[in-house]
Amino acid sequence: MDNNYDVIIIGAGPAGLTAAVYAGRAGLKTAMLEYEAPGGKMIKTDIVCNYPGVDNVSGVDLSMKMFEHSTAYGAEYIYGEVSEIIDEGEWKIVKASGTEYKTHAVIIATGTNERTLGFADDERLLGKGLSYCAVCDGAFFKNKDVVVIGGGNSALEESVYLTQFANKVDLVIRRDVFRGDEANQRQVLNNPKINVIRKHVPVDYIVTDEGKVGGIKFKDVETGVELDVASEGVFPYIGAIPATGFLANHEGMVDEEGYLIVNEQLETVIPGIFGAGDVIQKHLRQIVTATSDGAITAQNAFHHIQNLKSKV
Ligand code: NAP
Repeated sequence: MDNNYDVIIIGAGPAGLTAAVYAGRAGLKTAMLEYEAPGGKMIKTDIVCNYPGVDNVSGVDLSMKMFEHSTAYGAEYIYGEVSEIIDEGEWKIVKASGTEYKTHAVIIATGTNERTLGFADDERLLGKGLSYCAVCDGAFFKNKDVVVIGGGNSALEESVYLTQFANKVDLVIRRDVFRGDEANQRQVLNNPKINVIRKHVPVDYIVTDEGKVGGIKFKDVETGVELDVASEGVFPYIGAIPATGFLANHEGMVDEEGYLIVNEQLETVIPGIFGAGDVIQKHLRQIVTATSDGAITAQNAFHHIQNLKSKV
């Protein structure tokens, strides 16, 4: 198998999928490396309401449409979890799941992973009432009480989604105001199945004798008084951690939080390596800003490769 490419895109969320459309259409030999289903966070979203032209589309449908589009111009979709990028100047080596790929340009579009609560049982309770994906697991909580933690857009949207199944959703936020958009706040506050608990932080899970989630203990941030909320499901949506661990050997690529540092042209400090989507430092993390990044990075990768070829 020929593992040499013009451009390798790491991650197949909206940024990576769009970069693949543009790179493919520019005639570049393109591969996308991904170790999950295409769509990234989008595929775990119930309904997308703010992508122009496709009001109220399911996250799964939009993911599949973008995926089909991304391969329509020749980009290959390859299973692979990237562990390292080696910069050899004109060529970059990308190591993924035991295979080495050679490429002139890399677009990092790896997005972010869910932040966990940091409790001892975080791993043990996964699938036993603890979930980070309401769209994947919500149906398991039919007529049950669930808790959602966080006040950002993810927590607000997924709380509303969970009300289709759950008997009651306790949405617990640590301040007295939400972080998410007004439109999402309105949906939450108008939903009779959602009970908002303000100014409480999680302390630990309550675990049943069978080793499953039985609820979660919170603490009032002002009084310190503890509050036990019984529930069979806990959905933490408390933000994200950028997926940039594979860049640990490179100086100056990421900031102190791990987000990729890029300039206005979405170039990193290494010529030929670009960043797109939620993984880069930015103010607005949306599907529409991710797709914009994807287009810009593919175009700039094209120019980078043309420059390399004109020097030969
Ligand atoms: P986020 O916007 O960073 O919100 C995280 C929330 O979790 C905040 O309310 C934060 O509280 C709370 N939190 C953080 N650590 C906590 C802890 N240890 N205990 C309790 N609460 C904690 O994260 P997100 O909702 O996952 O969204 C990530 C990005 O994607 C955002 O830019 C968001 O706008 C975007 N997004 C957009 C949409 C949309 O536009 N439809 C949908 C989903 C996501 P504080 O507010 O007090 O800090």
